[in-house]
This record gives sequence, C-alpha cells and structure tokens, in this order.
Amino acid sequence: MQPSISEASAYGRARLSESSSPDVDVQVLLCYVLECSPVKLMTAPEAELTAAQWQRFAELIERREQGEPVAHLTGSRGFWSLDLAVDASTLIPRPDTELLVSLALSKLEPGMWAADLGTGSGAIVLSLAAEKPDVHFVATDLQQAAVRLAQNNARQHQIENVQFLQGAWLSGFRPQAFDLIVSNPPYIEAHDPHLTQGDVRFEPRSALVSGADGLMDIRQIVTQASRHLKPGGWLLVEHGYDQSQRVQQLFHEAGFDAITAHQDFGAQDRAVMGQLSV
Ligand code: GLN
Repeated sequence: MQPSISEASAYGRARLSESSSPDVDVQVLLCYVLECSPVKLMTAPEAELTAAQWQRFAELIERREQGEPVAHLTGSRGFWSLDLAVDASTLIPRPDTELLVSLALSKLEPGMWAADLGTGSGAIVLSLAAEKPDVHFVATDLQQAAVRLAQNNARQHQIENVQFLQGAWLSGFRPQAFDLIVSNPPYIEAHDPHLTQGDVRFEPRSALVSGADGLMDIRQIVTQASRHLKPGGWLLVEHGYDQSQRVQQLFHEAGFDAITAHQDFGAQDRAVMGQLSV
C-alpha cells in the first residue's frame, strides 16, 4: 500500500522542518507530483499516491531538504498573473517584485515605449505586457541564457509586444528612447551573510550582488536612465530594505523629481520611483 495524501504531507513536513516554509513547500511539491490543485489535497486527504508518485515526491523532498529552491524543483513560479518557467540562470521571481509591476502599471499609457533592465525570467516585463498590449516593451539582460528563458516565457503566454535583447542595461539605445524604465537589478552587498542562506545560494550571483555597497548597478541604471528617458519619463527600481534614502539621493542627483519611496508586503522599503525633469 502506498501513503495517502495526508501521510505524504506529514512525511514531507517532518523532513522539511528546517525550511522556512515547510507547509507551502510540501503543498507545492505534492501538487506538482500529483498534477492537481491545492484543493484536492484538502478534499481528498485519504487518496493514495501511486508508487511512481510516491518515489518522485520522496526524491523532491530529499532535494528540498538539501536546500534546492522549490521553484527549481518544479521548474516554475507564479508571478502576478503568469506561471513562469524558471531555471538556475536567473533570479527566482519574488512576490515583493509585484510592487514594481503595480507601480509601472499606474504610469503606462497606450503607445508608450517602456524598458525592463535585467529582465531575468521576464517576470516584470511579461506581467506588464500581458496587462498593456498597446505599450511597446523592450527587455534586456546581460546573460544570453536569461534572454532565452524570458523569450520562451513570452512564447508560452503568447505575449508579442516585447522585444528581448542581450546587453548591458541601456547601452546601444538612443537618447530619450523611453517613457518608462523599470528594473529589479542586483542590489545585495558583496559580503552580505544572507548570501549563504536559503534560495539565494542556488541563484546566479550576477543577479544578486552589486559591489561592496550593493548600489553599483543602481548607480549605473539611474545615470543611464537620465539619458535614455524622455523628459517627464519615469524610472522605477527595486532595492534593498536599507537603501531607500541612498537610492532617492541618486535619483535626485541625476535630475529626477517627484521621487517617491514604496514598501513591499513586509512593510520594508523596496522601490523608488521618480520622474525625469521636464
Ligand atoms: N530580493 C532578493 C533577496 O533579497 C534580491 C533580489 C535582487 O538582488 N534583485 O533575496
């Protein structure tokens, strides 16, 4: 006899007691193996797994116990309205980054040109493009593997108003090309101890770390954006929980006005938005 759903859940939760989110981890992995919705786990707890399902589940729990991110085990992560393919070539989309999506949506209007810098899996730009089919989007990433992953995600969701390009931030674009620029760049300090804990151990350092103070990339983005935005255009960047003041200062020095700070779901400062002076 194979274990039931509730027995498999209990087994998984016990094995993952060190994880920061054992209940969610087990739910996501069980649904993945059983190809079912979370509702089924609750409504049919006595249903038995097949031998193959149990073996697969036990293997995934074992890998999760070793620290592998759930999104790498299932190969996908939900973000905004989309289910996105993810792999080890990019950052795993975080719920907190949905803040940038909602801020950008408040500024985008039909016919505008917008850029997403360091697009990774394409999470930000594809969420925006799905909501705004009449805006032209460009998304860049330095890593060719990320560009390919994001292009596949666009194809998967039949999103056609995004052009993906390999490149460093805004290099190669003409001056005043954009009405809005959004980015979730690397912003962690090189020696931050968090880099040795949790999911970030399995993500590319190039997507996480940005020099000794974590602001090397944001500095470049703010400077370049001031040249490549049209007057009156908007810049939105995600940043670390203790970087808001310094990021606002960078915006100010580069000629942005109407600078505002925004908090994530955990009430931490997480994004700054500003408008290039007219
Ligand atoms: N928010 C991520 C983390 O702290 C980092 C994302 C980033 O550097 N852009 O794990």
